[in-house]
Amino acid sequence: MVQRVVVLGAGFGGLELVTRLSEAVGDQVDITLIDKNDSFVFGFAKLDVMFGRRQLTEVQADYRDIAKRGVEFRRETILSIDPATRRVLTDGGTYDADILVVALGADYNVAATPGLAEGGYEFYSVTGAERAGQALAQFEGGSVIVSVLGPLFKCPGAPIETVLLVHEYLSQRGLRERSTIHLTTPLPMPIPISKKTSAALSAILDEAGIECSFASMVSRIDPDARVAHLADGRELPYDLFLGIPVHCAPEVVRASELAEDGWIPVNPATFETKFPGVFAVGDVTSAPVPRAGAMAEGEAATVAAVLISRLTGTSAPPPFDGVAVCYVETGTSVARIDVNFLSYDTPVAKFSAPTTTLAAEKREFGTSRLTRWFGYDDPGASG
Ligand SMILES: Cc1cc2nc3c(=O)[nH]c(=O)nc-3n(C[C@H](O)[C@H](O)[C@H](O)COP(=O)(O)OP(=O)(O)OC[C@H]3O[C@@H](n4cnc5c(N)ncnc54)[C@H](O)[C@@H]3O)c2cc1C
Repeated sequence: MVQRVVVLGAGFGGLELVTRLSEAVGDQVDITLIDKNDSFVFGFAKLDVMFGRRQLTEVQADYRDIAKRGVEFRRETILSIDPATRRVLTDGGTYDADILVVALGADYNVAATPGLAEGGYEFYSVTGAERAGQALAQFEGGSVIVSVLGPLFKCPGAPIETVLLVHEYLSQRGLRERSTIHLTTPLPMPIPISKKTSAALSAILDEAGIECSFASMVSRIDPDARVAHLADGRELPYDLFLGIPVHCAPEVVRASELAEDGWIPVNPATFETKFPGVFAVGDVTSAPVPRAGAMAEGEAATVAAVLISRLTGTSAPPPFDGVAVCYVETGTSVARIDVNFLSYDTPVAKFSAPTTTLAAEKREFGTSRLTRWFGYDDPGASG
Protein backbone atom coordinates (compact mmCIF):
# COMPACT_ATOMS: atom_id res chain seq x y z
CA MET A 1 0.00 0.00 0.00
CA VAL A 2 1.26 3.48 -0.86
CA GLN A 3 2.22 5.40 2.30
CA ARG A 4 1.16 9.01 2.71
CA VAL A 5 4.25 10.92 3.88
CA VAL A 6 3.76 14.57 4.82
CA VAL A 7 6.93 16.63 5.26
CA LEU A 8 6.52 20.00 6.96
CA GLY A 9 9.22 22.48 5.91
CA ALA A 10 11.33 22.49 2.75
CA GLY A 11 14.65 23.58 4.24
CA PHE A 12 17.87 21.59 4.58
CA GLY A 13 16.18 18.71 6.42
CA GLY A 14 12.95 18.52 4.40
CA LEU A 15 14.68 18.74 1.00
CA GLU A 16 17.22 16.06 1.86
CA LEU A 17 14.53 13.75 3.21
CA VAL A 18 12.21 13.93 0.20
CA THR A 19 15.16 13.53 -2.17
CA ARG A 20 16.30 10.31 -0.48
CA LEU A 21 12.78 8.87 -0.20
CA SER A 22 12.00 9.69 -3.81
CA GLU A 23 15.23 8.09 -5.06
CA ALA A 24 14.80 4.89 -3.04
CA VAL A 25 11.07 4.28 -2.70
CA GLY A 26 9.39 6.91 -4.89
CA ASP A 27 6.86 4.35 -6.15
CA GLN A 28 5.81 3.30 -2.63
CA VAL A 29 5.19 6.74 -1.17
CA ASP A 30 2.96 9.68 -1.83
CA ILE A 31 4.97 12.61 -0.43
CA THR A 32 3.54 16.06 0.19
CA LEU A 33 6.19 18.68 0.95
CA ILE A 34 4.79 21.89 2.46
CA ASP A 35 6.49 25.26 2.94
CA LYS A 36 5.16 28.79 3.34
CA ASN A 37 7.91 30.24 1.15
CA ASP A 38 8.29 29.96 -2.63
CA SER A 39 12.04 29.35 -2.58
CA PHE A 40 14.97 27.96 -0.60
CA VAL A 41 18.03 30.01 0.42
CA PHE A 42 21.13 28.51 2.08
CA GLY A 43 21.94 30.08 5.46
CA PHE A 44 25.43 30.98 4.25
CA ALA A 45 23.99 32.64 1.13
CA LYS A 46 22.40 35.23 3.44
CA LEU A 47 25.94 36.41 4.24
CA ASP A 48 26.63 36.70 0.48
CA VAL A 49 23.55 38.92 0.19
CA MET A 50 24.49 40.96 3.27
CA PHE A 51 28.03 41.64 2.06
CA GLY A 52 26.81 42.57 -1.43
CA ARG A 53 28.43 39.62 -3.20
CA ARG A 54 25.19 38.31 -4.68
CA GLN A 55 21.66 39.56 -5.22
CA LEU A 56 18.86 37.76 -3.40
CA THR A 57 17.39 36.54 -6.70
CA GLU A 58 20.73 34.86 -7.47
CA VAL A 59 20.56 32.64 -4.38
CA GLN A 60 16.85 31.71 -4.33
CA ALA A 61 16.11 28.18 -5.55
CA ASP A 62 12.46 28.02 -6.64
CA TYR A 63 10.38 25.20 -5.16
CA ARG A 64 8.46 24.98 -8.46
CA ASP A 65 11.61 23.39 -9.91
CA ILE A 66 11.34 20.31 -7.69
CA ALA A 67 10.49 17.41 -10.01
CA LYS A 68 10.81 14.15 -8.12
CA ARG A 69 9.03 10.85 -8.36
CA GLY A 70 6.31 10.66 -5.69
CA VAL A 71 6.82 14.24 -4.43
CA GLU A 72 4.37 17.14 -4.64
CA PHE A 73 5.25 20.59 -3.31
CA ARG A 74 2.55 22.81 -1.80
CA ARG A 75 3.18 26.44 -0.94
CA GLU A 76 1.01 26.77 2.16
CA THR A 77 1.37 27.99 5.73
CA ILE A 78 0.98 25.33 8.40
CA LEU A 79 -1.55 26.44 11.00
CA SER A 80 -1.79 23.44 13.34
CA ILE A 81 -0.24 20.01 13.87
CA ASP A 82 -1.99 17.20 15.75
CA PRO A 83 0.69 14.54 16.28
CA ALA A 84 -1.70 12.04 17.88
CA THR A 85 -3.82 11.79 14.71
CA ARG A 86 -1.00 12.90 12.35
CA ARG A 87 -3.34 15.56 10.97
CA VAL A 88 -2.03 18.91 9.70
CA LEU A 89 -4.08 22.00 8.98
CA THR A 90 -2.76 24.62 6.56
CA ASP A 91 -4.20 27.75 4.97
CA GLY A 92 -4.82 25.54 1.92
CA GLY A 93 -6.38 22.41 3.40
CA THR A 94 -6.08 19.43 5.73
CA TYR A 95 -3.55 16.61 5.41
CA ASP A 96 -3.72 13.18 7.04
CA ALA A 97 -0.40 11.34 7.11
CA ASP A 98 0.77 7.78 7.69
CA ILE A 99 4.22 9.25 8.33
CA LEU A 100 4.62 12.85 9.44
CA VAL A 101 8.01 14.61 9.49
CA VAL A 102 8.39 18.04 11.08
CA ALA A 103 11.33 19.98 9.62
CA LEU A 104 10.18 23.52 10.34
CA GLY A 105 13.51 24.94 11.51
CA ALA A 106 13.94 27.74 14.03
CA ASP A 107 12.31 31.17 14.08
CA TYR A 108 13.59 34.40 15.57
CA ASN A 109 12.27 36.40 18.52
CA VAL A 110 13.66 39.86 17.77
CA ALA A 111 11.48 41.41 20.51
CA ALA A 112 13.27 39.29 23.14
CA THR A 113 16.14 41.80 22.96
CA PRO A 114 14.70 45.23 23.77
CA GLY A 115 15.94 47.86 21.33
CA LEU A 116 17.19 45.45 18.67
CA ALA A 117 14.41 46.21 16.18
CA GLU A 118 14.90 49.98 16.55
CA GLY A 119 18.64 50.24 17.09
CA GLY A 120 20.22 47.29 15.29
CA TYR A 121 19.92 44.78 12.48
CA GLU A 122 19.24 41.07 12.73
CA PHE A 123 20.85 39.38 9.72
CA TYR A 124 19.68 35.77 10.11
CA SER A 125 16.49 36.11 8.05
CA VAL A 126 16.54 36.81 4.31
CA THR A 127 14.94 40.23 4.73
CA GLY A 128 17.17 40.96 7.72
CA ALA A 129 20.30 40.14 5.71
CA GLU A 130 19.15 42.49 2.94
CA ARG A 131 18.48 45.31 5.41
CA ALA A 132 21.79 44.75 7.20
CA GLY A 133 23.48 44.82 3.77
CA GLN A 134 21.98 48.26 3.05
CA ALA A 135 23.20 49.52 6.44
CA LEU A 136 26.70 48.16 5.76
CA ALA A 137 26.76 49.81 2.32
CA GLN A 138 25.96 53.19 3.93
CA PHE A 139 28.39 52.69 6.83
CA GLU A 140 31.29 55.13 6.84
CA GLY A 141 33.35 53.55 9.65
CA GLY A 142 33.06 53.42 13.45
CA SER A 143 32.36 50.72 16.00
CA VAL A 144 30.66 47.57 14.78
CA ILE A 145 29.23 45.06 17.23
CA VAL A 146 28.27 41.55 16.11
CA SER A 147 26.33 39.93 18.89
CA VAL A 148 24.86 36.49 19.58
CA LEU A 149 21.76 37.30 21.62
CA GLY A 150 20.65 33.87 22.86
CA PRO A 151 22.22 30.62 24.06
CA LEU A 152 21.02 28.50 21.10
CA PHE A 153 21.66 29.66 17.56
CA LYS A 154 22.15 28.29 14.06
CA CYS A 155 25.62 27.46 12.86
CA PRO A 156 28.23 27.95 15.62
CA GLY A 157 30.74 29.17 13.02
CA ALA A 158 28.47 31.88 11.57
CA PRO A 159 29.21 34.68 14.10
CA ILE A 160 32.94 34.15 13.59
CA GLU A 161 32.47 34.18 9.83
CA THR A 162 30.44 37.35 10.15
CA VAL A 163 33.08 39.36 12.04
CA LEU A 164 35.80 38.16 9.65
CA LEU A 165 33.67 39.16 6.67
CA VAL A 166 32.96 42.56 8.26
CA HIS A 167 36.75 42.93 8.62
CA GLU A 168 37.30 42.05 4.95
CA TYR A 169 34.42 44.24 3.74
CA LEU A 170 35.61 47.31 5.68
CA SER A 171 39.23 46.70 4.59
CA GLN A 172 38.16 46.59 0.92
CA ARG A 173 36.24 49.85 1.35
CA GLY A 174 39.20 51.55 3.07
CA LEU A 175 37.25 51.92 6.32
CA ARG A 176 38.94 49.33 8.50
CA GLU A 177 41.49 51.66 10.12
CA ARG A 178 38.81 53.96 11.45
CA SER A 179 36.63 51.08 12.66
CA THR A 180 36.55 48.60 15.52
CA ILE A 181 34.87 45.20 15.39
CA HIS A 182 33.65 43.52 18.59
CA LEU A 183 32.07 40.07 18.85
CA THR A 184 29.96 39.22 21.91
CA THR A 185 28.73 35.67 22.41
CA PRO A 186 27.41 33.60 25.30
CA LEU A 187 29.72 30.76 24.24
CA PRO A 188 32.84 30.40 26.42
CA MET A 189 35.08 30.01 23.33
CA PRO A 190 34.56 29.92 19.53
CA ILE A 191 33.81 26.17 19.33
CA PRO A 192 33.19 25.00 22.92
CA ILE A 193 33.69 21.28 22.19
CA SER A 194 37.33 21.81 21.16
CA LYS A 195 40.06 23.93 22.79
CA LYS A 196 42.41 23.33 19.84
CA THR A 197 39.88 24.39 17.21
CA SER A 198 38.91 27.38 19.36
CA ALA A 199 42.58 28.41 19.72
CA ALA A 200 43.05 28.23 15.94
CA LEU A 201 39.99 30.41 15.33
CA SER A 202 40.98 32.84 18.13
CA ALA A 203 44.36 33.30 16.44
CA ILE A 204 42.61 34.22 13.16
CA LEU A 205 40.32 36.66 14.99
CA ASP A 206 43.30 38.23 16.79
CA GLU A 207 45.17 38.69 13.54
CA ALA A 208 42.19 40.52 12.10
CA GLY A 209 42.15 42.81 15.15
CA ILE A 210 38.72 41.67 16.29
CA GLU A 211 37.88 42.08 19.95
CA CYS A 212 35.90 39.21 21.45
CA SER A 213 33.81 39.03 24.62
CA PHE A 214 33.10 35.36 25.23
CA ALA A 215 30.63 34.14 27.85
CA SER A 216 28.85 37.47 27.68
CA MET A 217 25.47 38.50 26.44
CA VAL A 218 23.92 41.77 25.29
CA SER A 219 20.61 42.00 27.14
CA ARG A 220 19.26 45.24 25.69
CA ILE A 221 20.11 48.03 23.30
CA ASP A 222 19.54 51.73 23.79
CA PRO A 223 18.83 52.92 20.24
CA ASP A 224 18.96 56.65 21.12
CA ALA A 225 22.28 56.54 22.97
CA ARG A 226 23.56 53.81 20.58
CA VAL A 227 24.78 51.72 23.46
CA ALA A 228 24.55 47.94 23.95
CA HIS A 229 24.03 46.88 27.57
CA LEU A 230 25.56 43.56 28.60
CA ALA A 231 24.11 41.30 31.29
CA ASP A 232 27.34 41.74 33.31
CA GLY A 233 26.73 45.50 33.56
CA ARG A 234 29.17 46.62 30.83
CA GLU A 235 28.09 49.16 28.23
CA LEU A 236 29.41 49.10 24.66
CA PRO A 237 28.86 52.13 22.42
CA TYR A 238 28.28 51.26 18.76
CA ASP A 239 27.69 52.77 15.35
CA LEU A 240 26.44 49.57 13.70
CA PHE A 241 24.88 46.70 15.65
CA LEU A 242 24.44 43.35 13.88
CA GLY A 243 22.54 40.82 16.01
CA ILE A 244 21.87 37.11 15.87
CA PRO A 245 18.42 37.15 17.46
CA VAL A 246 17.05 34.85 20.14
CA HIS A 247 15.91 31.61 18.45
CA CYS A 248 12.66 29.76 19.11
CA ALA A 249 10.68 26.97 17.45
CA PRO A 250 7.98 28.22 15.05
CA GLU A 251 4.75 29.19 16.81
CA VAL A 252 2.81 26.31 15.18
CA VAL A 253 5.24 23.86 16.82
CA ARG A 254 5.24 25.55 20.23
CA ALA A 255 1.42 25.45 20.19
CA SER A 256 1.37 21.71 19.43
CA GLU A 257 1.70 18.73 21.74
CA LEU A 258 5.08 18.02 20.13
CA ALA A 259 6.92 20.79 21.99
CA GLU A 260 8.54 20.37 25.39
CA ASP A 261 10.46 23.33 26.78
CA GLY A 262 9.96 25.04 23.43
CA TRP A 263 11.51 22.43 21.12
CA ILE A 264 10.69 18.90 19.90
CA PRO A 265 12.35 16.08 21.83
CA VAL A 266 13.36 13.13 19.63
CA ASN A 267 15.10 9.81 19.93
CA PRO A 268 18.57 10.97 18.73
CA ALA A 269 19.20 7.60 17.06
CA THR A 270 16.10 7.63 14.80
CA PHE A 271 14.59 11.12 15.19
CA GLU A 272 11.19 9.65 16.00
CA THR A 273 9.15 11.66 18.49
CA LYS A 274 7.12 10.12 21.29
CA PHE A 275 4.17 9.97 18.85
CA PRO A 276 4.28 6.84 16.65
CA GLY A 277 4.91 7.66 12.98
CA VAL A 278 5.88 11.26 13.76
CA PHE A 279 9.50 12.31 13.24
CA ALA A 280 11.28 15.65 13.60
CA VAL A 281 14.63 16.76 12.15
CA GLY A 282 16.86 19.82 12.09
CA ASP A 283 16.80 23.04 14.07
CA VAL A 284 13.31 22.43 15.47
CA THR A 285 14.45 19.52 17.67
CA SER A 286 16.26 19.48 21.00
CA ALA A 287 18.62 16.71 19.78
CA PRO A 288 22.06 17.01 21.44
CA VAL A 289 23.76 18.41 18.33
CA PRO A 290 24.25 21.98 17.06
CA ARG A 291 21.68 23.63 14.86
CA ALA A 292 23.27 23.51 11.41
CA GLY A 293 22.22 22.63 7.88
CA ALA A 294 24.82 19.89 7.59
CA MET A 295 23.47 18.37 10.80
CA ALA A 296 19.83 18.65 9.64
CA GLU A 297 20.88 16.90 6.44
CA GLY A 298 22.45 13.97 8.36
CA GLU A 299 19.36 13.69 10.55
CA ALA A 300 17.12 13.64 7.47
CA ALA A 301 19.30 10.92 5.93
CA THR A 302 18.82 8.89 9.11
CA VAL A 303 15.03 9.31 9.04
CA ALA A 304 15.01 8.38 5.35
CA ALA A 305 17.00 5.21 6.11
CA VAL A 306 14.61 4.31 8.96
CA LEU A 307 11.54 4.79 6.74
CA ILE A 308 13.09 2.93 3.78
CA SER A 309 13.97 -0.01 6.04
CA ARG A 310 10.41 -0.12 7.37
CA LEU A 311 8.90 0.11 3.87
CA THR A 312 11.17 -2.51 2.35
CA GLY A 313 11.31 -4.81 5.37
CA THR A 314 15.10 -4.61 5.58
CA SER A 315 17.16 -4.32 8.77
CA ALA A 316 17.15 -1.05 10.71
CA PRO A 317 19.96 1.39 9.83
CA PRO A 318 22.69 2.38 12.32
CA PRO A 319 21.81 5.28 14.65
CA PHE A 320 22.66 8.87 13.68
CA ASP A 321 26.35 9.50 14.43
CA GLY A 322 26.23 13.30 14.73
CA VAL A 323 28.87 13.76 12.05
CA ALA A 324 28.96 16.97 10.00
CA VAL A 325 31.36 19.23 8.13
CA CYS A 326 31.23 22.94 8.91
CA TYR A 327 32.90 25.54 6.74
CA VAL A 328 33.99 28.91 8.16
CA GLU A 329 34.69 31.70 5.67
CA THR A 330 37.62 33.88 6.64
CA GLY A 331 37.51 36.14 3.58
CA THR A 332 38.71 34.65 0.33
CA SER A 333 39.72 31.45 2.16
CA VAL A 334 37.60 28.93 4.04
CA ALA A 335 38.44 26.82 7.10
CA ARG A 336 36.88 23.42 7.70
CA ILE A 337 35.73 21.90 11.00
CA ASP A 338 34.90 18.20 11.05
CA VAL A 339 32.63 17.50 14.01
CA ASN A 340 31.39 14.26 15.49
CA PHE A 341 28.88 14.67 18.28
CA LEU A 342 27.50 11.22 18.98
CA SER A 343 30.04 8.52 18.05
CA TYR A 344 32.40 8.89 21.02
CA ASP A 345 32.05 9.52 24.76
CA THR A 346 32.40 13.25 24.15
CA PRO A 347 31.94 15.38 21.01
CA VAL A 348 35.05 16.12 18.93
CA ALA A 349 36.01 18.80 16.37
CA LYS A 350 39.00 18.77 14.02
CA PHE A 351 40.20 22.04 12.51
CA SER A 352 41.65 22.46 9.00
CA ALA A 353 43.27 25.87 8.38
CA PRO A 354 41.72 28.20 5.78
CA THR A 355 42.70 27.71 2.13
CA THR A 356 41.28 28.63 -1.27
CA THR A 357 40.94 24.88 -1.99
CA LEU A 358 38.51 24.65 0.92
CA ALA A 359 36.69 27.70 -0.49
CA ALA A 360 36.13 25.71 -3.69
CA GLU A 361 35.04 22.70 -1.60
CA LYS A 362 32.45 24.84 0.18
CA ARG A 363 31.08 26.09 -3.17
CA GLU A 364 30.81 22.46 -4.28
CA PHE A 365 28.98 21.63 -1.03
CA GLY A 366 26.31 24.15 -2.03
CA THR A 367 26.07 23.36 -5.74
CA SER A 368 25.91 19.59 -5.18
CA ARG A 369 22.92 20.05 -2.86
CA LEU A 370 21.13 22.30 -5.34
CA THR A 371 21.72 19.75 -8.11
CA ARG A 372 20.31 16.89 -6.02
CA TRP A 373 17.36 18.86 -4.64
CA PHE A 374 16.42 21.12 -7.58
CA GLY A 375 18.17 19.73 -10.65
CA TYR A 376 20.47 22.72 -11.24
CA ASP A 377 23.51 24.13 -9.48
CA ASP A 378 22.99 27.88 -9.94
CA PRO A 379 19.63 29.40 -8.99
CA GLY A 380 20.63 32.65 -10.72
CA ALA A 381 20.85 30.81 -14.03
CA SER A 382 17.67 28.74 -13.64
CA GLY A 383 15.36 31.45 -14.97
C1 LIG B 1 23.84 33.36 8.35
C2 LIG B 1 23.73 31.86 8.45
C3 LIG B 1 24.80 31.08 8.01
C4 LIG B 1 24.73 29.68 8.11
N1 LIG B 1 25.76 28.93 7.64
C5 LIG B 1 25.70 27.59 7.69
C6 LIG B 1 26.76 26.80 7.17
O1 LIG B 1 27.76 27.31 6.65
N2 LIG B 1 26.64 25.44 7.28
C7 LIG B 1 25.54 24.85 7.85
O2 LIG B 1 25.49 23.62 7.90
N3 LIG B 1 24.52 25.58 8.33
C8 LIG B 1 24.57 26.92 8.26
N4 LIG B 1 23.52 27.69 8.74
C9 LIG B 1 22.42 27.02 9.47
C10 LIG B 1 21.38 26.39 8.52
O3 LIG B 1 20.89 27.36 7.62
C11 LIG B 1 20.22 25.83 9.34
O4 LIG B 1 20.72 25.15 10.46
C12 LIG B 1 19.42 24.86 8.48
O5 LIG B 1 18.76 25.57 7.45
C13 LIG B 1 18.42 24.09 9.31
O6 LIG B 1 17.67 23.24 8.49
P1 LIG B 1 16.15 22.88 8.86
O7 LIG B 1 15.68 21.97 7.78
O8 LIG B 1 16.07 22.43 10.26
O9 LIG B 1 15.37 24.26 8.82
P2 LIG B 1 15.26 25.34 7.66
O10 LIG B 1 16.28 25.12 6.61
O11 LIG B 1 15.23 26.66 8.35
O12 LIG B 1 13.84 25.04 7.01
C14 LIG B 1 12.63 25.23 7.72
C15 LIG B 1 11.54 25.54 6.70
O13 LIG B 1 10.25 25.53 7.38
C16 LIG B 1 9.46 26.54 6.81
N5 LIG B 1 8.41 26.92 7.77
C17 LIG B 1 8.57 27.35 9.05
N6 LIG B 1 7.36 27.56 9.62
C18 LIG B 1 6.42 27.26 8.68
C19 LIG B 1 4.99 27.25 8.68
N7 LIG B 1 4.26 27.62 9.75
N8 LIG B 1 4.34 26.88 7.55
C20 LIG B 1 5.07 26.50 6.45
N9 LIG B 1 6.41 26.47 6.40
C21 LIG B 1 7.08 26.85 7.51
C22 LIG B 1 10.43 27.68 6.52
O14 LIG B 1 9.91 28.52 5.50
C23 LIG B 1 11.69 26.91 6.08
O15 LIG B 1 11.79 26.79 4.67
C24 LIG B 1 23.56 29.07 8.65
C25 LIG B 1 22.47 29.86 9.04
C26 LIG B 1 22.55 31.24 8.93
C27 LIG B 1 21.34 32.07 9.35
